[in-house]
Amino acid sequence: MIKRIAIFGSTGSIGTQALEVIEANPDKFSVEILTANSNETLLVEQAIKYNPNIVVIGDELKYTKVKEALANTSVKVFAGEDALKEVAGMDCYDLMLAAIVGFAGLKPTLKAIENKKAIALANKETLVVAGDIVMQKAIENRVPIIPVDSEHSAIFQCLMGETRNRVEKVYLTASGGPFIGRKPNYLVNVKREHALQHPNWEMGAKISVDSATLMNKGLEMIEAKWLFNLKPDQIEVLVHPQSAIHSMVQFEDGSIKAQIGVPDMKLPIQYALAFPARIPNNYPRFSFKKFNEFTFEEPDIKTFKNLALAIEALQKGGNLACIMNAANEIAVYAFLKNRLGFLEMTDVIEKVMGEVKFIDKPTLEDYFDSDADARTLAADIIRL
Ligand code: NAD
Ligand code: MG
Repeated sequence: MIKRIAIFGSTGSIGTQALEVIEANPDKFSVEILTANSNETLLVEQAIKYNPNIVVIGDELKYTKVKEALANTSVKVFAGEDALKEVAGMDCYDLMLAAIVGFAGLKPTLKAIENKKAIALANKETLVVAGDIVMQKAIENRVPIIPVDSEHSAIFQCLMGETRNRVEKVYLTASGGPFIGRKPNYLVNVKREHALQHPNWEMGAKISVDSATLMNKGLEMIEAKWLFNLKPDQIEVLVHPQSAIHSMVQFEDGSIKAQIGVPDMKLPIQYALAFPARIPNNYPRFSFKKFNEFTFEEPDIKTFKNLALAIEALQKGGNLACIMNAANEIAVYAFLKNRLGFLEMTDVIEKVMGEVKFIDKPTLEDYFDSDADARTLAADIIRL
């Protein structure tokens, strides 16, 4: 049976790699929905090539351009934020690949869950912001949330066949990012172009900066808490610069399972799309001869303070991770525009986390309000 795929965020790093996976497996997948925020040129190109049922362009000003470019096709064109949600509620697909970056991914993903569609989740911010509500809704609607993030895919794969066995802890591995081993006197001068050069992975701009600050690992700790129902002290980060072990699970008998492979996001994407099956491919294989040394160290959270802030949010719970995420999004975009220094991002996030009202048991509305308040405050502090 062909699985009908909706890619939310099809023009991004994850979205484009997912299309490569789908293209290589036309007997298994079809493309039903593609969405992009502002890159109408690539969206149109993708629509002509993959002939989906529907495309959505987030930026409403670009609707006419997309509509005209696709006038001779049967592709239906929608535009705007509300259309993303509306389309997520349609029946024409089986699985949503949630590959929008940031808080913007939350509403369409929630809608897809309510619509009882399976979710392949790349958008970690969805769980960072409202993990309790998202996971609860997934249980109520009997919807599987299959992680795409490589670490979580690794843990998910290690857990296969272990449903009755309790997890003692998980080890989330981290490459350490482009500035591994660096100290504040170096980081203070770091600019956008340095932060965007990741040693092992090629990714979108926001997650590249998050990887450079180690905020990404903090977001992933929170993501792991919700996906696998873990307590904060069951999640340990290990810096493993080879990025060969994608993460590990330790069970109650002390036994540890690891998932190993080449660092290529197409592998976790393919696993999530095809789950529970594995699809053969001819991608390069991992070589133990080439990687004959695996090393591990503790993350330097004194230098990379964003990770310390994320651990605080993980431990405190409530709406603190939502506040942190919003401040981080604003800070990262300001950094990318050269409006904020690398280390100043932490100052902004810390200040916003201290000032926006803490709510112990937030509702979905509370999360939206906290997100908005945190964004306004962060923008005020940066004077955007
Ligand atoms: P990206 O910036 O390359 O792509 C983002 C996509 O989201 C684009 O298609 C863009 O059009 C769309 N988008 C952005 N803002 C939007 C908005 N406001 N409304 C609607 N659509 C919007 O990002 P990416 O690197 O592909 O990452 C996507 C998600 O996957 C992120 O949450 C990231 O943390 C996660 N992730 C990425 C990687 C990776 O290797 N790139 C790995 C693990 C997890
Ligand atoms: Mg990851």
